[in-house]
Amino acid sequence: MDQPMQDDWYQRPCSEVLETLETQEHDGLTDEQVRERLATYGPNTLATAKAMSWFKRLLLQFHNPLIYILLIATVVTLVLGEYVDSGVIFAVILINAIIGYVQESKAEDAIQSLKHMLSSTATVMRQGQRMEVPAAELVPGDIVLLASGDKVPADMRMVSARDLQIDESTLTGESVAVEKQSKPLDSNTVLADRSNMAFAGTLVTYGTGRAVVTATGNRTETGKIADMISEAVSLETPLTRKINAFSRVLLWVILVLAGVTFGVGLLYGQSWVDTFMAAVALAVAAIPEGLPAVVTITLAIGVRRMALRNAIIRKLPAVETLGSTTVICSDKTGTLTENQMTVQRILVDDTTFELSGAGYEPQGQILQDGEPLAGPVAGHEALYQCLLAGLLSNDSELVEQEGRWTVQGDPTEGALITSALKAGMERHPLRRELKRVDAIPFESDRQYMATLHRHEGGYRVYMKGSAERVIAHCDRIMTADGELRPLDSKRLHEQADQLAAQGLRVLAFAMRESDLDHLQVPDPERAEDRLIFLGLQAMIDPPREAVVHSVETCRQAGIRVKMITGDHALTARAIAERIGILRDGEQASQQVLTGRELGNMTPTELARASEAVSVFARVAPEQKLQLVEALQAQGHVVAMTGDGVNDAPALKRANIGVAMGINGTEVSRDASDMVLADDNFSSIEAAVEEGRNVFDNLLKFITWILPTNLGQGLVIMVAVLLGVTLPVLPVQALWLNMTTAVFLGLMLAFEPREPGIMGRAPRQTNMPILNGETIGRIFSVSALLLLGAFGLFQWSLMQGASIEEARTLAVSLFVVVQSFFLLNCRSLTRSVFQTHPFSNHWIWWGITGMAVAQLLFVYTPFMNLLFQSAPLSLSQWGLILAYGVVVLLLVELEKAVWRWRHPEKKTVAAKTRA
Ligand code: ADP
Ligand code: MG
Repeated sequence: MDQPMQDDWYQRPCSEVLETLETQEHDGLTDEQVRERLATYGPNTLATAKAMSWFKRLLLQFHNPLIYILLIATVVTLVLGEYVDSGVIFAVILINAIIGYVQESKAEDAIQSLKHMLSSTATVMRQGQRMEVPAAELVPGDIVLLASGDKVPADMRMVSARDLQIDESTLTGESVAVEKQSKPLDSNTVLADRSNMAFAGTLVTYGTGRAVVTATGNRTETGKIADMISEAVSLETPLTRKINAFSRVLLWVILVLAGVTFGVGLLYGQSWVDTFMAAVALAVAAIPEGLPAVVTITLAIGVRRMALRNAIIRKLPAVETLGSTTVICSDKTGTLTENQMTVQRILVDDTTFELSGAGYEPQGQILQDGEPLAGPVAGHEALYQCLLAGLLSNDSELVEQEGRWTVQGDPTEGALITSALKAGMERHPLRRELKRVDAIPFESDRQYMATLHRHEGGYRVYMKGSAERVIAHCDRIMTADGELRPLDSKRLHEQADQLAAQGLRVLAFAMRESDLDHLQVPDPERAEDRLIFLGLQAMIDPPREAVVHSVETCRQAGIRVKMITGDHALTARAIAERIGILRDGEQASQQVLTGRELGNMTPTELARASEAVSVFARVAPEQKLQLVEALQAQGHVVAMTGDGVNDAPALKRANIGVAMGINGTEVSRDASDMVLADDNFSSIEAAVEEGRNVFDNLLKFITWILPTNLGQGLVIMVAVLLGVTLPVLPVQALWLNMTTAVFLGLMLAFEPREPGIMGRAPRQTNMPILNGETIGRIFSVSALLLLGAFGLFQWSLMQGASIEEARTLAVSLFVVVQSFFLLNCRSLTRSVFQTHPFSNHWIWWGITGMAVAQLLFVYTPFMNLLFQSAPLSLSQWGLILAYGVVVLLLVELEKAVWRWRHPEKKTVAAKTRA
């Protein structure tokens, strides 16, 4: 490897490229070479620069109209010689910016770190072995096997390609997939036309190929432009946009009110300094500074909780959309079922064989009438060929690790290897003897896979796939002793249906001799393309245990669960019945529709069916898109799962595209909003639960925070209108808003789920965030705050208290009432006396922190100086605490009245708890 960094690979013939890179087309690199090259070239990862420097991001925190007001206030107070005030206001601006910066970075990190949970892998040949390695460990010279659905892990020169098509839009912007080949090209071929190269980050949409890695990491074409690719994640969601818009409107309203306050003050003949400070106090007090930050943090906490339950969010908006989901469309295989396939029955030539043993471990026997097969399996030609077809027409591998047998690749194919091994066949000698020369890979649309093998001077085709498709390609059937008979397709269909009706996944097998050295897509109409039918292998794939419960939970939560599968209609029905998607006595939804029936429907029929039917079988990926669209047109919020490359459009279109972390393709993951780390349907249900909780907690927070601002705003306005001394100074309002939001309000983001959370209907997306109830509560608590703070302030002044003391009383009253109201807000409907006091211990830490901060505020001379506060007496505290308890009880009373007037909501909650 003299000049590994050249980029004229596309001009040179394959053999030369392989030679230069010192690698073997079939065997790949040796472990030694890989180690050396990894040390030389480093890992295959992109070292991207952070999108923005920390300094710029910190500076952006100051880009906020409220901060501008405060900056003006700083300057004005400075000019007036009020150095303490000026200093405090400026310090608060700084602290506020730092808190905002830290919280924003944390939220970003939370999402960023999830990306690392989704590391991708590559299939390579090394030491003559096919294996999966993390994409980060690729080195120049590695031989990579590409298949549809993969993301190209590095830059590479094609060595061979079969119908290989790659979507290079990430690199070239051209969205039409490019066909790849392996011949050398002219020296002046531009990047977009280098059809013998595959580039890192592009997506394989079709076919298969073999290529040799030419560049990794930052030396790839994508790596060269990586600086342009932003690493930053967007923290924007529809909800944050709504809240930001709300904040902006609020800001202008408050600025106008502040202007009015200023005007009124001047009219009353007060000094313009005092009125200016009153206006500033109003602005500072009434603007909910903490709101946007806490919303983002609550969403980020939701992201983390979902990740703990195996739902990995790729796009933040999904967190809130999940809470509104009304339909979940799920794959069957692997999502609703275990994807633990075991062949149980083989049907050849009208004879049924049973297989003993479980899992992928090749321990077990082939039984006929309960007796182990007499003699070697080769004595039964059709059975032997049927097993051989499963073994050879196969892209997967069984691996044994510490006595555990697992599949690398497709579980369906793994099961077929196991069944052949149980019959005593040996895969490596057989795969060597009947060497594969060509293949048509499995694609969901096609429902079969075919391979071509060298055999005794000629060639032999093996095919496996769905019973319908394979039978359609056959005209003869093989008997036990290897004779050929004409095929009775009706009978075969009946046999396949019978197996499928038991919930078994059925695969059919066929073969044919051939003299062509390559495979053509067989045409069932052409006589010479016709194959010999061999038999059926039927495998169980047990439903996931937890799914039954999750489906029931979704039903109670008003979420429809629909199964959309490529599998047989009868298999789909049997599984759907077992997991409760289809239930006895629900006539309307008893129906199972097939892709073909869907294809024959008019748009109106399709719309009706999408709503009424729960199980769709033999569905083509593009029909998934139609179903999503039909459901959305009827106002549904749709979560849709998908694993294949062709599922990408449906995943993108769905409100929440859900991809699989274990068995899905890279392409589907790229198109998704959320990835299931365990491929399990129950994780979607868990994510919905968390999504609802996020929304609940946001609502609790908003209901909690707004009275602080409204209450203070009212206090200041009333004071100005009455022409009396301000009960709350600007710096005190700043203190109040900052400490209560951080110590108290933020803690609501950690509230656990409400008991009845999956007992209510999904939240409608077009509903306003606040309803009559919550608005009413916000206003009544604000009124109580006004009454308490203003009343106490005036009353204590009349009692002869100093102005500092009276203001400290008012500020402390806000703190105490907001602490008690925080307890109310732990649930907007349930009684605080019913919520477990320590189910969210953060609440108590927060209240303790707030108490300490407030005691410092009241009693330390330093704070007294900064904030013009003064020590309070025990009896004054007693008064404030008593008022806090009164507010707590009044809000609880209001809740109780609400519960009494809405008994139905309570019973739903109670029912789910039971
Ligand atoms: P699903 O994942 O929803 O079960 P698929 O689209 O993967 O549906 O499979 C559809 C049908 O194609 C299956 O019922 C089976 O008969 C057949 N099939 C599945 N996997 C393979 C495979 N690897 N090779 C050949 N045929 C397959
Ligand atoms: Mg599948």
